[in-house]
Amino acid sequence: MSTATRPQLQYLHDAIEDLKAKHLYFNLKILEGEQKPIANFDGKEVINLSSNNYLGLTTHPKLRRAAIDATRKFGVGSGAVRTIAGTMKMHMDLEAQIASFKKVEACVVFQSGFAANAGTVSAILGKDDLVISDELNHASIIDGCRLSRATIKVFKHKDAADCERVLQETKDWNGKKLLITDGVFSMDGDIANLPALCDLAEKYNCIMMVDDAHSSGVLGSRGRGTIDHLNCHGRVDIQVGTLSKAIGSIGGYVCGSRDLIDFLHQRARPFLFSTSHPPSVTATCQAAFELLDSEAGEKLIKKLWANTKFFKRKLKKLGFNTGKSETPITPIMVGEAAKAFQFSRELFAEGVFAGAIGFPTVPEGKARLRTIVTATHKRPDLERAAEIIGRVGKKLEVVS
Ligand SMILES: *Cc1c(COP(=O)(O)O)cnc(C)c1O
Repeated sequence: MSTATRPQLQYLHDAIEDLKAKHLYFNLKILEGEQKPIANFDGKEVINLSSNNYLGLTTHPKLRRAAIDATRKFGVGSGAVRTIAGTMKMHMDLEAQIASFKKVEACVVFQSGFAANAGTVSAILGKDDLVISDELNHASIIDGCRLSRATIKVFKHKDAADCERVLQETKDWNGKKLLITDGVFSMDGDIANLPALCDLAEKYNCIMMVDDAHSSGVLGSRGRGTIDHLNCHGRVDIQVGTLSKAIGSIGGYVCGSRDLIDFLHQRARPFLFSTSHPPSVTATCQAAFELLDSEAGEKLIKKLWANTKFFKRKLKKLGFNTGKSETPITPIMVGEAAKAFQFSRELFAEGVFAGAIGFPTVPEGKARLRTIVTATHKRPDLERAAEIIGRVGKKLEVVS
């Protein structure tokens, strides 16, 4: 087999060499065994501060059992897209369960949160329409907007006044208008100002859409998300969530009115052209929402927040800048990307896995480590992680 780069792809090779020269090239970390608070990456046991496994559900015994039982009973695949022969009864049951959990009329599940955002925005808007979008919205929202061919106007992060400036400038817009924001921002861990944005959406007649990927299972009553947390029920037309983070499996969903969901069945391209989830995934998610909406779920969320507060306090005491985080996503601001990557590498060597995030995921000059503790981290492990982060941070002069 010939594996040499053919001339057509030489430019990719050059781009990779360029990244390596700038110390911006990353290698995939290989997880052996389970996704847990102490995990084995690249053959090394480390304290894992890098997953989105907020409640530890990736390895929860009830979810594991649900997946195995469903596989025994229904097989390993759905065998078709939803619109042809791939809608199983359990798909419908899960959607009804999520709709009821989120207190809305209806829900549709997609293969991923990415597909939910990209598929929804591109389905409901066209080239004559307008999107008003927070500058730090997730890549899947941005891609959905681009696919829709709508005009995109960006407002300053979390800035309702700047959002209103954009709405004023476009108040005579003829097409539809979509105001869209993340509920919790995935790189900074701060929470959107939803009540103010809902006011603006109502005042300027916009469709209101919130991506609650990082807040479902984390914020609000029993993890119902930012809309519940900030008392905005009934004011958000389109709620997106993911099944891949706190829920512990994979997938995304859109919640809203019956009409919205019926329309997405007809027009959302990932729903029409990509195969539905296998029974194991759907059964896992059913078990996860059942757990979430129970006292056991409440306990896990409480533990998540107690661990979060404990860890943030430790980092602040050590002098680290944790940005504007209000949630378990806790950045450790570094600045220069090369230094953030070095910080992460040295931490890993000492037994702490905290990934570095640089451009283009965050703006240039705002490189950071991104940490997330979970409900299943043990206190002594968090203490040890903080101690190591403090020691290495001092050595690299991230703190004095
Ligand atoms: C992770 C994330 C997604 C994508 O969800 P997946 O299920 O992993 O595809 C979408 N939006 C936001 C804000 C996210 O953080």
